[in-house]
Amino acid sequence: MTTDRVQDRLDTVALKASSDPTSPKFAGPCPRCGGPVPNADRPGAYPGALSRLDNATYICSACGTEEALFNYFRRGEPLPPFGERAAA
Ligand SMILES: [Zn+2]
Repeated sequence: MTTDRVQDRLDTVALKASSDPTSPKFAGPCPRCGGPVPNADRPGAYPGALSRLDNATYICSACGTEEALFNYFRRGEPLPPFGERAAA
């Protein structure tokens, strides 16, 4: 199979981007930072991070990391609402 045909197959099975933030195919904007999901290099290519705030909304990978660090370094404090960063 030529490289072009391999790329065609990949395009056919690629995730179709969604605007629903509860869909694993959500491509953004990220409810925390407004950026693409999962990241600016490959928006919509794969699921973003599941937010720890409601365990239902997908956010970008960078904000997912921020939420994890927030929970680690500020244990016991509630995560900020969507629309705000969760910088630790
Ligand atoms: Zn984000």
